[in-house]
Amino acid sequence: MRKVYIDYNATTPLRPEVKAAMIEDLDIFGNASSMHASGRLARARVEQARIAVGNLIGSKDGTIIFTSGGSEANNTVFQTMRRITELKDFKLPGNAGFNSRNEFITTAIEHPCVLNSALFLKNSGFNVTIIPVDEYGKIKIDELEKALNDKTLLVSVMAANNEIGTIQDVKEITALVKKAGAFMHIDAVQAVGKIPLNAAELGADYITISAHKIYGPKGIGALYVKKGSPVFPLVHGGHQEDGLRAGTYNNLGILGFGKAAEIIKNEVTRYGNEISALRDRLRKGLVEKVPHIKINGHPKDVLPNTLNVSFPGAEGEAILLSLDMQGIEASTGSACASGSLEASHVLLATGVGPELAHGSIRFSLGWGIAEEDIDYIIEVLPPIIARLRAMSTLPA
Ligand SMILES: *Cc1c(COP(=O)(O)O)cnc(C)c1O
Repeated sequence: MRKVYIDYNATTPLRPEVKAAMIEDLDIFGNASSMHASGRLARARVEQARIAVGNLIGSKDGTIIFTSGGSEANNTVFQTMRRITELKDFKLPGNAGFNSRNEFITTAIEHPCVLNSALFLKNSGFNVTIIPVDEYGKIKIDELEKALNDKTLLVSVMAANNEIGTIQDVKEITALVKKAGAFMHIDAVQAVGKIPLNAAELGADYITISAHKIYGPKGIGALYVKKGSPVFPLVHGGHQEDGLRAGTYNNLGILGFGKAAEIIKNEVTRYGNEISALRDRLRKGLVEKVPHIKINGHPKDVLPNTLNVSFPGAEGEAILLSLDMQGIEASTGSACASGSLEASHVLLATGVGPELAHGSIRFSLGWGIAEEDIDYIIEVLPPIIARLRAMSTLPA
């Protein structure tokens, strides 16, 4: 049986070059904080990886802090904000009175690690505003403009959504947020490597990325902090990462991340062309062969690899199980929400009703998927939907 992994927004396999580099690096065991030669070797390689990761996102003179992943990088930003409100005399050069700001603005379609942090900040005394999105998943900029005020401390907006792939106008949003004097955070975990992204051009204070979404290892990510923007450690301890993230350096993870970053940096254009051609082939095939489907996400401003489809009259988990039995691995939405049986908060936010949201499948493509894999899905899926619809009591 053919096996088609088409869930790259959940995670990606290690690419062969990264795997080979990591196997070679397994023996770089020195503690990167040690003074001796083994330590210095490890440290030099860590710093080389840091440069590669910085280059990937176009960091000019910002700081790259290695973390355990995207979730930790995001949490580092939110906890920094909490700390600022606690510090009675917090000041930045040229900026006064940050400690009187206690409002956090984010959007309805963020990753759970952002939305649950928003809840945490709310319980810590922050005023939290959730900006709605339109039917395509684009945040309503006028609502953001209305919400921004001189009490806004932080705005957090994802560059691209993990479930429907919609790309936000983060440059325009960042400009608005900076004009309001607040800090801007971008969760770029899904965007990086798929669409062009340049930290220096964007001007955001914080950008989050994660290695396992770009064919690197799991358990390693990074937070970019613009020069001069505040950051406080989430993990206290030793002096690693300039005192901003304690804990012995994860040599292997960091080196794998660096290798993955180095490779993907030069592939964004080719990725855009080749992966979107495969995605479009899948969309066309499904639209032709399965009646009454709905494509979710923005028609144009969408990640090249993401296709989210609603199948009225069929249930998402049942579709997934049937696909899995035929070797096709897709998802109903975010891996974090899978198994919770809750309808996708992203689809609900775009106005898709709970029933239809429950009948939605995310296909997310990546390097390694071939045309034959796409054609296999187009062959296998239509009879599955027909069978489930025939059995179903849901309205088609
Ligand atoms: C995967 C993901 C994260 C979490 O990153 P981890 O490294 O898995 O913690 C955060 N935000 C988005 C948009 C993601 O897709």
